[in-house]
Amino acid sequence: MKASKMLISTLKEAPQEAKIDSHILLLRAGMIKAQVAGVYQFLPLGLRVLHKIENIIREEMDNSGAIEILCSALQPKELWEESGRWSKYGPELMRLSDRHDREFCLGPTHEEVFTTLVRDLVKSSKNLPLNIYQIQTKYRDERRPRFGLMRGREFLMKDAYSFDKDEAGLEESYQNMYDTYSKIFSRMGIHYQVVLADTGNIGGNGSHQFMALSDIGESEIVYCDACGYAADVEKATAKLIPSTPEEPKPLHKVHTPNQRTIEEITQFLNIDPKKTAKTLIYHDYVNEKLVAVVVRGDREVNEIKLVNALNSNENYLELAKDEEILSLHSVHGFVGPKDLACEIYVDEEVTQLSNFVIGANEVDYHYENVNYGRDFTGTVCDLRKNVAGDLCPVCGKPMAQERGIEVGQIFKLQTKYSLPMKCVYVNEEGKNVPMVMGCYGIGVSRTLQSIVEQYHDEYGIQWPLNIAPYHCVIVPVNYNDEEQQKVALHAYDALSKEAEVILDDRNAKPGFKFKDWELIGIPYMIICGKRSNEGIVELKNRSTLEKTELPVEEAIQFILNQVHSI
Ligand code: ATP
Ligand code: MG
Repeated sequence: MKASKMLISTLKEAPQEAKIDSHILLLRAGMIKAQVAGVYQFLPLGLRVLHKIENIIREEMDNSGAIEILCSALQPKELWEESGRWSKYGPELMRLSDRHDREFCLGPTHEEVFTTLVRDLVKSSKNLPLNIYQIQTKYRDERRPRFGLMRGREFLMKDAYSFDKDEAGLEESYQNMYDTYSKIFSRMGIHYQVVLADTGNIGGNGSHQFMALSDIGESEIVYCDACGYAADVEKATAKLIPSTPEEPKPLHKVHTPNQRTIEEITQFLNIDPKKTAKTLIYHDYVNEKLVAVVVRGDREVNEIKLVNALNSNENYLELAKDEEILSLHSVHGFVGPKDLACEIYVDEEVTQLSNFVIGANEVDYHYENVNYGRDFTGTVCDLRKNVAGDLCPVCGKPMAQERGIEVGQIFKLQTKYSLPMKCVYVNEEGKNVPMVMGCYGIGVSRTLQSIVEQYHDEYGIQWPLNIAPYHCVIVPVNYNDEEQQKVALHAYDALSKEAEVILDDRNAKPGFKFKDWELIGIPYMIICGKRSNEGIVELKNRSTLEKTELPVEEAIQFILNQVHSI
């Protein structure tokens, strides 16, 4: 490809809304262009990368025995009513209606579509197990679309759904996808960790996420180096540290003028935050009630654990407003679980504390020497967010924490969809049995950006060779110089048959051209300069920035060897 014929649209500066390196670089390198918040166009270079990522996924999915199809994005409301998700999915579902007022959504995921497809097409157990997948555009009206392709409102996903006769079959299909995902992300050069995950809106039980490790990742991972336990913080649990009980002291109301936060109250009373409990009031819109949640003062509430305990939905759970707190005869900043007129959920850790401090539901007052069981009770469960230092639930050693970008997730759905949607097969006794399902997603466009996040430097992107839009670029320092042009054209012809190569035939300053290709991240650059008349060129490696002078034939051979080894 000749650079003069390409739509190269590099930018000196990224638009202001781009906050993280990978987003800035994809925009600056002219790989993508924003349409509206969370919606992007793929420009030629970006599209080539996207296709390479798709093809790795496609190859490995095909190798695993899965079959590719392509479904529509537009899905009728009736399908979602069959599964019960039309009302449950929440504001993320992009809903629309046609000219006859028939309601639809733009699919955020395709469980309903695949389940009914298999229900209609497969009757006999002879066709099972079956794993079908697609690479297709998804729509989610995300609360906070941000970071470019990381959290889009329109994005490309590979989604697969497995159908088995029984649980044992699902276990095999699930393991097959676990192994396939590991191959896919390894082939892309992604540094990743597999973690236990919550099942969220998709449902079912049993799930893993594949996390590309990165400081800008939105997901937090808690892991144990000793035994290998690793979980998304939403899902992570920890061993409860039993405390040595103290003799309960008499309850005492203490005047705490203007001391609202845990920080203020611990300073005011000169106590450790671990000797306090904080109470948050939530409005659960699914079950239409206010609930109180009590965790140790230094802890955060894990809202996913709370959603699961309440059998609610994360899109329908919010912290209560001040007037709602007043309706419980309490007041913001001084809320406590004693004599509170609502359901109370207590993190198990709080039951281990003795003689601690809580709000007194009265302006400027707290209680001291509070003890669970004597002064208040509630539903006890695990509701806290785990952090580094908490003890591994498997081996009891202290855990560590890091951040990751969720690039894939796999779920055991079991019969969550096949049962209500009647996706059944006839067994040997002639009975209808629901198929046992799994579902498996990869964020294709998010994966693309995650690679940039892991492979870049101050000059631009450093694409791994098998992902790069082109393998090599040939840059004559001065294209009008006859010798330079001759060597460049020779290298271009020799490489074009077996490698993806660009000839920079633009009439521009060399520094400008070099900067462009470094930003775009082409793995190898052949520079045809002063020594072109001797057949000597420079070979530059984008990832190490090393430059070597060598005969053009050697440069050609080197690049061909690299490309053949992909
Ligand atoms: P998240 O927790 O990040 O919102 P999710 O768990 O809701 O993601 P899944 O339903 O598991 O997402 O979708 C499968 C994959 O699709 C995810 O692992 C992720 O890589 C990708 N994905 C999900 N939402 C988005 C989005 N808004 N933009 C880009 N990719 C996404
Ligand atoms: Mg997920």
